Amino acid sequence: MSSTLDQHDSAYDAERAGFQTLASHRPELIVPAASADDIRQAVSQAAARGLPVAVQATGHGLPVAAEGGLLITTGAMNAVTIDPAAGTARIEAGVRWEQVIEAAAGHGLAPLSGSSPVVGAVSYTLGGGIGLMARRYGYAADQVRAVEVVTADAELRRVTPDGDPDLFWALVGGRGNFGVATALEIGLVPVQRLYGGALYFGTDLAGPALRAWRDWTRSLPEEMTSSIAVIPFPDSPHAPAPFRGQTVAHVRVAFTGEAAEGEELLAPLRAVGPRLTDTVGELPYTGSAAIHNDPTKPSGYYSTHSLLRELPEEALGALLGARAVVEVRHLGGALTKPQSAANSVGNRDALYYAGMLTPGLAPGSDLTAVRAAHEVVTRALSPWATGGQVLNFLYGDQARPQNVRRAYEPADYERLTRLKTTWDARNLFRLNHNIPPA
Ligand SMILES: Cc1cc2nc3c(=O)[nH]c(=O)nc-3n(C[C@H](O)[C@H](O)[C@H](O)COP(=O)(O)OP(=O)(O)OC[C@H]3O[C@@H](n4cnc5c(N)ncnc54)[C@H](O)[C@@H]3O)c2cc1C
Repeated sequence: MSSTLDQHDSAYDAERAGFQTLASHRPELIVPAASADDIRQAVSQAAARGLPVAVQATGHGLPVAAEGGLLITTGAMNAVTIDPAAGTARIEAGVRWEQVIEAAAGHGLAPLSGSSPVVGAVSYTLGGGIGLMARRYGYAADQVRAVEVVTADAELRRVTPDGDPDLFWALVGGRGNFGVATALEIGLVPVQRLYGGALYFGTDLAGPALRAWRDWTRSLPEEMTSSIAVIPFPDSPHAPAPFRGQTVAHVRVAFTGEAAEGEELLAPLRAVGPRLTDTVGELPYTGSAAIHNDPTKPSGYYSTHSLLRELPEEALGALLGARAVVEVRHLGGALTKPQSAANSVGNRDALYYAGMLTPGLAPGSDLTAVRAAHEVVTRALSPWATGGQVLNFLYGDQARPQNVRRAYEPADYERLTRLKTTWDARNLFRLNHNIPPA
């Protein structure tokens, strides 16, 4: 097994650090895994010592910090293998989306990656995965063909929908609750380019842009996936020049159809008025990071969200009044459709995801005021909320069991707890978005 680190090792701090800096892991032991066998031995060791197991690829989705447990880090497991004939990729546990995008592009293919190319592909996919082309191709999870996983009995298994439909169903959606995934086999889609990019409107047009975007989403084809963020930029030299001191509406667009059709579709949004910047045009999928332009440097953030059935005027008012960065994603389309291999991803009925984000928080910040500001908006949106939560967007203390439960259909959650009893009755895998055994 690769060497194990404890708090006395000089490499301990670097190995436990991740993208989210608001909280950090302080595990008793860290196992930097280089292979599936390292993971198997780490799980065996944790089970023997009664230590709960946590896993970290990049630290973008830190739920519970691994206080006192055994943390398996997977950053060194980053092999990507494309099978162009089958249109699939095998991706190891530490792979980031940018690696899959690059490798697939050489074969005229693309993965169902999300807004940020530096997010870990395995956790994103097993948590559902709402990507840039979500309305066209559905959840990333719906493309999973096989999960290679170490279960709580320290056995390495290759789980397929035909071989073990129950465990496959639980793993794809239930993420780290049923084992540590060492690799996934996923389907790719035949996409090389998009009509895509971003429109940025300044303070005066932020409200009109949000309203126009909402109206626009009511009659779009599935080939168009889009979202909008309303971002207050500080009046500081650190903010990008055109956005400094402005509350910017940032519309993100990914259209898989032809450019001429995309341009016609986009006309009502451009008609809102002059843009601070307009980058929408022909875009290779390898350049798709420019659509959301997500941050790539580690930082502290607090985030909450609601899933909505509709976006009436009162809901828009609540979002525009939020003391936070607001992001609304248009769902529906292929996200609502049945999958070829059943999985446990829930919330296929929502039409909008409305997220709130407070960025730039120092490690260990007091969150009382931030939580209260988010709560005001959540309450205002509640008349139109489905009550569901997206597993992938539950960070930090938001990943508590009562919220995790809301990521699934009620009957599916009960089934997950029963399967958890079968596969991990001691809840060895509990430093995660936990589903306790029945
Ligand atoms: C900037 C940003 C952009 C994002 N964009 C999107 C988006 O467009 N769409 C979307 O759906 N989500 C998005 N997310 C959410 C993201 O998908 C989740 O946070 C995801 O869990 C991140 O995975 P990671 O490996 O990068 O993070 P990590 O923090 O390393 O992992 C998160 C959790 O996943 C579990 N886990 C990790 N690896 C394994 C494994 N091998 N086996 C079992 N469990 C494991 C662990 O419980 C771990 O705590 C975004 C997040 C951020 C911060």
